Amino acid sequence: MSTRPEITRSAVRANVAGLSAYSGPEDPGQLARRLGRPTESIIKLDANENPFGPSPLVSEALSQYGTYHVYPDMSQRLAREALSEYVGLPPEHLMLGNGADELIDLLMRAYLDPGDEVVDFPPSFGMYAFNAHTQNARVVEVQRDGRFNISIEETLASLTPRTKLVLLTSPNNPTGNVQPTSDIRRLLETGHLVVLDEAYAEFAAADGQGFESMMTDVANYPNLVVLRTFSKWAGLAGLRAGYAVLPLGVAEHLWKLKPPFNTNVAALVAVRESLAGPGRI
Ligand SMILES: *Cc1c(COP(=O)(O)O)cnc(C)c1O
Repeated sequence: MSTRPEITRSAVRANVAGLSAYSGPEDPGQLARRLGRPTESIIKLDANENPFGPSPLVSEALSQYGTYHVYPDMSQRLAREALSEYVGLPPEHLMLGNGADELIDLLMRAYLDPGDEVVDFPPSFGMYAFNAHTQNARVVEVQRDGRFNISIEETLASLTPRTKLVLLTSPNNPTGNVQPTSDIRRLLETGHLVVLDEAYAEFAAADGQGFESMMTDVANYPNLVVLRTFSKWAGLAGLRAGYAVLPLGVAEHLWKLKPPFNTNVAALVAVRESLAGPGRI
């Protein structure tokens, strides 16, 4: 049988052929080997993982879990019920993902046709631009000022009829800036879909500086999506558990794209235990 590498080369979508692979943080073991040092000497700070790890309830529940051979509940019922209480909205508004990363990807797949625009505020979370490019969308960058704040006027001016998603992170990664909710409300009034990434909300809520989550506002705005994750505050980055708080009109479409078993049984158990445990903020 002859191999025909030119076919696989020419059959790939032109957009994908032009992409470069995501360059993420280097694995600590690999870094240690490259530097010729013991792995224990590497202090890993590049991915905002929680050095304290998860609640002890998580490892206890996972060691006792008896049905690893059965596929996860694709409706994520128990985890969504537990989350519902934490979030303060009914489970219909909630979807778990294989990390919040997967939900960013699902949103982009649901909303972006080639040539559509997303608004990004660099420096911000790298997955927004990465995923937008996989959909052949255009990333419109609104520049931050010298203190990394966002001008809402400039943001409003950046919107065009092709704008599909505005990707706001509050508190922002990597700068920590919090976006006033009054600004976000002005943006929501435009009718554009605003994806508000609150990955660090639990830390901001704990520091007493007046951070206000917009999670429950999702019930009142059909164009507000809030993203959260268990990777950071709950120390579960390795298990991949994030969630989206979705208006029902958005949820309807994301369920059609969600891979049925996207959130594995260990992550679903860990989510419930984290919400029950003493580590809960
Ligand atoms: C870490 C992080 C995420 C992704 O979290 P996962 O649930 O691990 O995919 C999303 N947004 C921001 C801003 C982050 O820093």
